Amino acid sequence: GDLRNDEFKVLGDLGAGAGGTVDKVVHVPTGTVMAKKLVLIDAKPAVRKQILRELQIMHTCASPFIVSFYGAFMKEPHICICMEYMDRTSLDGVYKKHGAIGIQVVGKIAEAVLEGLTYLYDVHRIIHRDIKPSNILVNSRGAIKICDFGVSGELINSIANTFVGTSTYMSPERIQGGNYSVKSDVWSLGISLIELALGRFPFSNNDDHDPASNGSNGPGNGNGNGRSAEDDSDLPDELRATAKASRAPPVLPGAGAANSPPPVAAAGPNMSILDLLQYIVNEPAPRLTPPGKYPREAEVFVDDCLRKDPGLRKNPKQLLVTPEDLEVWAKGMA
Ligand code: ATP
Ligand code: MG
Repeated sequence: GDLRNDEFKVLGDLGAGAGGTVDKVVHVPTGTVMAKKLVLIDAKPAVRKQILRELQIMHTCASPFIVSFYGAFMKEPHICICMEYMDRTSLDGVYKKHGAIGIQVVGKIAEAVLEGLTYLYDVHRIIHRDIKPSNILVNSRGAIKICDFGVSGELINSIANTFVGTSTYMSPERIQGGNYSVKSDVWSLGISLIELALGRFPFSNNDDHDPASNGSNGPGNGNGNGRSAEDDSDLPDELRATAKASRAPPVLPGAGAANSPPPVAAAGPNMSILDLLQYIVNEPAPRLTPPGKYPREAEVFVDDCLRKDPGLRKNPKQLLVTPEDLEVWAKGMA
């Protein structure tokens, strides 16, 4: 049956993102523990109803690599989305707490995400649109599943302002406002895999490997004091406006820095979101570093995910065609 808000008891707080907050709850009538996401929607009632209708597609999504859906309902002015509770939560939390994730496990993560993406696209023609460590969840049974995919076009439109928080995993073609496809998800996977293996966000020249200090380099924090990027002509209008709005007042990184010329083509922790997006478009894609530290299969796989030209990039299914490579990758480090 349909879920109602008064049937839940909150057990704890699982976190918050740009678009909403997530609670651990128990659905009292059935005793089922769930994750309940509250999304603030700035839209008319008709649009909200449309979103709820579109979310119902998730009832038909059944895969071991996709977080299950229990239901969605309105709680003005929010929409509540109830999903499977994953007791080890998301991979961003895992590496920020425990440091870089072993490369064999990263291989397993790659495989699970590709399986999930292939399922979503082959069966439902859904492009995920938001692959990143916080949307890859794990549980104590060892399952790895993806969540928060773009099932509702209306929902995507209504929370478009959360864009800044997620844009740093975006592929060059998507940043440039071009047509994008399921291959964009592959790019985001590549960025995520490097982040998990290195224990830090890859668009960062920070050599400090203390996980506790890495959060500030990550996505959603693109409010540093980068150069005053007037030259944003590569970017579509929508992005330019968003990037400008996100620019925080400058913070001086240290004594003397105000006199030194700002870096132009070096990604760093002090980049503004606009600088970073231009960097992604204009500079070579990141790689697993240092070269030779990780199995060759892992390096090649990540390079394949991060082909800047989507025409040369494989789609999820093509990347799954040679799962032996993923196995070799895992064994290579045993
Ligand atoms: P953004 O808003 O930029 O997409 P996000 O993915 O971190 O960032 P939310 O999707 O709101 O934001 O999730 C907030 C946090 O809640 C996540 O980081 C994750 O740790 C936790 N979480 C989300 N869904 C679940 C779930 N089904 N089970 C357990 N924890 C979850
Ligand atoms: Mg999320």
